[in-house]
Amino acid sequence: MKRIGILALQGAYEAHRKAIQRAGAIPVPVRMAEELEGIDALIIPGGESTTMLKIAGDQGLVDPLRRFGREHPIFGTCAGAIMLATEVTNPAQESLGLVDISVERNAYGRQVDSRVVHLTPEAALGGDELEAVFIRAPRITRLGNGAKVYLRYQGDPVLVGSGRHIVATFHPELSDDDRIHKLFLDSVGNGK
Ligand code: GLN
Repeated sequence: MKRIGILALQGAYEAHRKAIQRAGAIPVPVRMAEELEGIDALIIPGGESTTMLKIAGDQGLVDPLRRFGREHPIFGTCAGAIMLATEVTNPAQESLGLVDISVERNAYGRQVDSRVVHLTPEAALGGDELEAVFIRAPRITRLGNGAKVYLRYQGDPVLVGSGRHIVATFHPELSDDDRIHKLFLDSVGNGK
């Protein structure tokens, strides 16, 4: 069975643990660089990206995460997507630079801080409508070459594959639907 690390520094990591179990893999909490050894892939959860980055820096995890992501798949959700992006705005902040996208933080405004919507997947993902929970979500404002869009909301890409990685600007772990975690698991270990 695949072992999927879940970065457990801050934020919504517990819900990912359950989603990964339901999707048929072994979740492994990651808080230290050594714990990146022996896992097949990693999830960076939602939360608060500035805080997560600060804790990752304090734990000496930033470079180990970058190295890990050059060889293994990472799935970043919400703050995790911000962590993975090559460019972050509103405000600008450092990031791991593993996924060639630009993201604008907290992009949907205060009044609509959080919402649950139902989206129709693009052909590449397929299937029925999918629930998407947005919480102070970032917006993907630029996609790099070769990015694959699986879901859009109001025209914006919200679930994107890029090389071996996947980013979601919403919280798939908070919905009772494991399609997105399964999509990620399917990409793990297929040599991409
Ligand atoms: N607004 C948060 C940030 O900028 C992300 C919110 C989330 O992960 N739900 O980091």
